[in-house]
Amino acid sequence: MKTCTIKKEGKKWFAFITIELPDYPEPIIPLTMVGIDLGLNNLIATSDGKFIEPPKLLRNAEKRLAVEQRKLSNMEYGSQNYLKQKRKVNRIHRKVKGTRNHISHCLSKLLVAKYDLIVFEDLKIKNLVKNSKLSKSIHDASWGRLVQHVMYKTAEIGKIMEKVDPKNTSQTCSACGKKSKTKLKLKDRIFHCEHCGLKIDRDINASINILLKSITYKNTVGLTGINGCGVGTSTTSCKAGMQVPTMNQQLLNLIKG
Ligand SMILES: [Zn+2]
Repeated sequence: MKTCTIKKEGKKWFAFITIELPDYPEPIIPLTMVGIDLGLNNLIATSDGKFIEPPKLLRNAEKRLAVEQRKLSNMEYGSQNYLKQKRKVNRIHRKVKGTRNHISHCLSKLLVAKYDLIVFEDLKIKNLVKNSKLSKSIHDASWGRLVQHVMYKTAEIGKIMEKVDPKNTSQTCSACGKKSKTKLKLKDRIFHCEHCGLKIDRDINASINILLKSITYKNTVGLTGINGCGVGTSTTSCKAGMQVPTMNQQLLNLIKG
């Protein structure tokens, strides 16, 4: 153990410990690869056509936090009721934070177990091009945490996480590679390619483009001779008649523990 810091948040005490780990293993040659689009409302879309949503328990806790915060803002600053409400808000706030952290650990565990190469958009670059109204700090913080959790979990076992420049990932056709002239509006859910006619969910289209931008993906495709058809398929194929739990179900099971 290198350092240990003790911190008090509200009535709870926390210990932050840093330890030295042995060197990470050599990266493996990835067989299962995925691009991930970090959408709004904490939803992720994968290049093999899946959507993963955070469970209701987080949404409910966030709603409750908003309600109690609104109550607080209507109270007289510094009054007894205000102080009482402030403690309540802080308590819910810590709970939401803890829940987000737990979900991020479960989701990253699920992704790292399933894929050898995981490609994200580089959020730092993304924020520069994004509408400021949309880039809420909470939203960004939770994505940043997920990317961080995936990063250390992949490194520990020799799997790979990569970040790519998000430029044009939502405007480019994932089938023919041509850029669309008309920009998608927020309400448009389907990407329709004016060049090759492809119709695909906009987030799935973006997640495939994210994977296609990955250096590791390009190198691996060259190395193993997998052609472009390798995109959008993962190795876990569904056997006929067998019920395979969806990633959302797997995530819920992990969260419940
Ligand atoms: Zn096209």
